[in-house]
Amino acid sequence: RSGRSAALRARMEERLLGARFRYLNQQLYTGSSRDAAELFRADPAAFHLYHRGFERQVRRWPERPVQRIVRYLRRRPASLVVADFGCGDCTLAASVKNQVHCFDLVPLSPRVTVCDMAKVPLAAESVDVAVFCLALMGTNLQEILGEANRVLKLGGTLMVAEVASRFEDTRAFLKAMAQLGFRIVSKDLSSSYFYLLEFTKTGPARPGPAPGLRLRPCLYKRR
Ligand code: SAH
Repeated sequence: RSGRSAALRARMEERLLGARFRYLNQQLYTGSSRDAAELFRADPAAFHLYHRGFERQVRRWPERPVQRIVRYLRRRPASLVVADFGCGDCTLAASVKNQVHCFDLVPLSPRVTVCDMAKVPLAAESVDVAVFCLALMGTNLQEILGEANRVLKLGGTLMVAEVASRFEDTRAFLKAMAQLGFRIVSKDLSSSYFYLLEFTKTGPARPGPAPGLRLRPCLYKRR
C-alpha cells in the first residue's frame, strides 16, 4: 500500500515538475534576455528546475546539438578562442582543448561567468568563434546577436544550433543575419530536430530593424 502511494506521489511530482518546466521555458522564449536574467536572479531554484527539464528533453533526441559543435571545433585549430553564449552545464568547454568563455545566467559549473548574454564581459573583437547552442531564447535577438558581433573578430565564426521548428522563414532569417554582419557559410539540416548554421562575421551590424530575425518560441508539449 505505502509502495503504491509513494509511486503515486512520485508521479504527481514528475507532473508538477514538467508543468513548471514548460512554464519557465515559455517565459524564457517570450520575454527579453533581461527578463530571463531577472527571473533567475529572483529564483535560482527555478533555474535548476529548468535545467532538469531541459536535460530530460534533449535526452529524447538522437543526438545532442552540442556534440556537433564539439566535432566542428575539434576539426579546427585548438588555438581559436571561443565564447559559448548560454553554455548550460559547460559540456562544450569540457569537451575541447580551446579556451572557452562560458556565459549563462546561473552557474551550473564553476567555469560559468554569470551574465546576461546581451552584455558579456569581453573586449571587442576578442574571440574567434561565438556559439549559441539552443540558446537564442530572448525576444531581443538583434541585441544578443549584436553582442556576438561586437566580441567576434572580423572573419570569425558564429555557430548557431537551433530547433528546426523555430524557423518560420529561413531565407528571411538569413537575410536578417547578413544585415547583422553574418554571412552564411554552411547549413546542416541533416537532423530533423535542429539546424546547425555556420556564419562568418563580415563586418559590424548595420543599424535599423531586421524584421526577418524571428524565431518561433520552442514550446514543449505535455507528455
Ligand atoms: N548550450 C547548452 C545549454 C542550452 S539551454 C547546451 O546546448 O547544452 C539554453 C541555456 O541558455 C540555458 O542554460 C539558459 O540558462 C541560457 N540562457 C537563457 N537566457 C540567457 C541569457 N539572457 N543570458 C545568458 N544565458 C541565458
